[in-house]
Amino acid sequence: MQRLITADTVLTGPAGQAVPNGAVLVDDHEIVAVGNIDDIRRRASTEAILHEHTGHTLLPGLINCHVHLALDASDEPLQHYLDSGDTDLLLAMTGRAQAAARSGVTTLRDLGDRDGLVFHLRDAIENGTLTGPRILAAGAPLTSPGGHCHFFGGEVDGDDAVREHIRDSADRGADLIKIMASGGQITPASPPMWASQFTAEQLRLAVKEAAVAGLPVAAHAHGTEAIAAAVEAGASTIEHCTWMTGSGGYETRDDVATAMAEHGIHACLAWPPHWRAFLERLGPDRAERIVNRVHWMRDLGVRMIPGTDAGLRGSHFTRFAEALGLYEHLGFACDEIIEMATTTAAKALGLNDVGTIAPGYSADLIAVKGDPRSTLNSLRGPDLVMIRGTLIVGE
Ligand SMILES: [Zn+2]
Repeated sequence: MQRLITADTVLTGPAGQAVPNGAVLVDDHEIVAVGNIDDIRRRASTEAILHEHTGHTLLPGLINCHVHLALDASDEPLQHYLDSGDTDLLLAMTGRAQAAARSGVTTLRDLGDRDGLVFHLRDAIENGTLTGPRILAAGAPLTSPGGHCHFFGGEVDGDDAVREHIRDSADRGADLIKIMASGGQITPASPPMWASQFTAEQLRLAVKEAAVAGLPVAAHAHGTEAIAAAVEAGASTIEHCTWMTGSGGYETRDDVATAMAEHGIHACLAWPPHWRAFLERLGPDRAERIVNRVHWMRDLGVRMIPGTDAGLRGSHFTRFAEALGLYEHLGFACDEIIEMATTTAAKALGLNDVGTIAPGYSADLIAVKGDPRSTLNSLRGPDLVMIRGTLIVGE
């Protein structure tokens, strides 16, 4: 079945690539043509279903690079998670994934859940049993005994356990490996955020073992030491990338950031949709320093991909567009931000059939009112969402 979708503008990605009076022709799950309405109309079959979106912009579906479907974004996400049995949890995860999809997020990278539940959800969506977003799933993140997010079930003690956990994750169908290189916020009695949870050797071992299984590694790292070790080990993405030190301060390292830029290791800051309240809570001085660190990374050529840590308190799965406002606040141009959330994110995650509107790509598209290149608010509440050619939102 063919669908012909027209809009005032088609942003094909990357930034700067736009077709005025554009159209996209979709056959089954794939994009077969994109271009000027008149040209594309001629190529469509007479039975093609027409979706006319006057006053709209059509663009690739958005990619949230850091979420936790197992957590519910309430005031007590951890307690609710611990209180849920697997069946209830999986149903709740399904609802959250589908809500994200309806808000225009067509791909999610899940960076931690338990018992491989997210693999079941991913597969059910992939084989058409359920509608929902494309999911890349890590499963239980590796962490030290009693370490950050140990409640996901990924505690490892020693080199053999590291190897075993990675092999097991790969066997169960993980798309990537997540490792908690440093401590974090939400786990009582675990190492502080800045502290490394693994040695540099263990991180190297983890990246090597993951590579044997063909999997990239996402390293959660707040501490400068953990960031440096994860970069040196060859992780694919650094989550949070906060550059903290034990003294309660921060240490940025040009050599590490330069290595990230050179090796295409992306930083995923994972700031929530309520980033503004977060900055206000820090006060002007600390907020300015945080903002300066992001500028410093950008100036050294570190590429960034957007994520929200959705599932944590107040970080709702449907508020990705709001979270993107952070980058506008940091001085990024709107079309640059759209590129981050589509083309760049897809490349960083190793997805070569989404993030761009081009023949041969998966039909993962959204249509939004107005032009998101002038205001990102336009990305909220899309009037059409299509994932793998299936209409999630739209008539
Ligand atoms: Zn996270």
